[in-house]
Amino acid sequence: MILGVKILSSPPSIDDLKLLTVVIGGILPAYKVAIVGAGPAGYFTAQAFQNLQTEDLTFAIDMIERLPTPWGLVRSGVAPDHPKIKTVSKVFEKIAKTEGFRLFANVELGKDISLKDLRERYDAVVLATGSPKGRKLGIPGEELANCISAAEFVPWYNAHPDYANVEVDLDTDTAVVIGAGNVAMDVARLLIIDPSELDPTDIAEHALVKFKHSKIRKVIICGRRGAEHAAFTAPELRDLPKLENTDVFIDKKEMSQASDRIKERGEVEKDLSNNLEAMRLIAEREKKGFERKLEIKFLSAPIEIKGTAKVEEIIFAINEVKDGKVIATNKTFTFKAGLVVTAIGYDAVEYPGINIENGRITNIAGHVEHNIYVTGWAKRGPVGVIGTNKSDSNDVVGLIISNLSEPKISEGISSLLKSGHEVIDQISWEKINASEVISGEIAGKPRIKEVDWKRLISLGRSQ
Ligand code: NAP
Repeated sequence: MILGVKILSSPPSIDDLKLLTVVIGGILPAYKVAIVGAGPAGYFTAQAFQNLQTEDLTFAIDMIERLPTPWGLVRSGVAPDHPKIKTVSKVFEKIAKTEGFRLFANVELGKDISLKDLRERYDAVVLATGSPKGRKLGIPGEELANCISAAEFVPWYNAHPDYANVEVDLDTDTAVVIGAGNVAMDVARLLIIDPSELDPTDIAEHALVKFKHSKIRKVIICGRRGAEHAAFTAPELRDLPKLENTDVFIDKKEMSQASDRIKERGEVEKDLSNNLEAMRLIAEREKKGFERKLEIKFLSAPIEIKGTAKVEEIIFAINEVKDGKVIATNKTFTFKAGLVVTAIGYDAVEYPGINIENGRITNIAGHVEHNIYVTGWAKRGPVGVIGTNKSDSNDVVGLIISNLSEPKISEGISSLLKSGHEVIDQISWEKINASEVISGEIAGKPRIKEVDWKRLISLGRSQ
């Protein structure tokens, strides 16, 4: 019978010895799990394993992360003016401090270690690598300067080290955001609000400086289908009228036409009626005459982006809803705008030997092949809020446990990494975290994020 995880304090390869559990009559390893990706899906997977531990069933969890910092989208995706959503990081830190958990940040799958290595050494490998690639519109002009995917724009303003140098030009009065989802709404809000509202946030310093010099005073969100098809969620819509320096516009006629269309459908789901109600209130709300304007427009599908050196105008086809179907009319309209941000969804990244289908890692209920599993956006596609990953990961962990056989006796990954490879472990990460929080305190912010990869690593080394 396995009695539980026992940490052996010496001799040298202590990390690997931590993987041992004491059993009556001998020493056997706990089940070894590698979770690739330190975002919400990764942490909730670790938590699901931790919650299912018993005296007879223990797990040694190694979380592998490409960046020198964990937390995934909570750090580099969630909008800086939504600090409440980020408080889930406290849960992540609790998971990370639970016995049997180790963080290996600054370790890249496919470069520093291979999937084959992980598959051989671990009882289960869970890919929680998200969907970082922005989908393309596939229309002429998309390659023009200042047509930027939200997959670059969002990590740029959130201080992701890979995106610090994204070229963003805010020297234009109008920006268009394509897509009618919550990412489009985050992007539009960040572009239009008075940048002083971002002072007390953890936005990247380089982005705050850019926003302070921004000439943008109008942002138009364009959805290709009707208001009833929008992917926004009601709490996010309800926040829009609370913006302090921005008027928000939705055409009343578009709203009443959408209501008429859904009445024809009979019973309406609660989420949809909440969404439509939130949008109706925005449409009918008296405007305050602010210089800053945010408009949400429906049934507008981009067909071409025009410009010489950079984006200058966007041509849209006007769609209509007929018999419940969205179809193109033969009418078009044009917006003059100097910036286009596309927020139309994401695809997962590929690893050698792993298939991608419709932007997701091919899987059956989270099982990829052999002892490899997938969870989160990489499994189900880029849908759902942070909490959605919890139930998803619980299901996948249940499946993994039901498939486990004898625990493997093997070394962990430390011996696979080149000598001198600087792993950011939990202690190093806590140093980075503390340093950012302390810099933030002085400036009245939750933290000031370090954006430079090398400096992040040296913060992790500090005493
Ligand atoms: P999303 O919710 O799927 O929205 C994507 C939008 O892009 C849809 O309106 C879609 O329209 C549109 N689109 C797709 N292809 C298009 C094309 N070729 N041309 C024009 N429009 C196109 O995706 P998301 O906004 O990236 O959000 C991803 C997930 O994260 C969502 O579940 C979201 O709720 C969540 N999230 C939550 C928060 C929050 O809670 N505060 C913040 C950000 C994100 P169709 O419907 O017509 O395809």
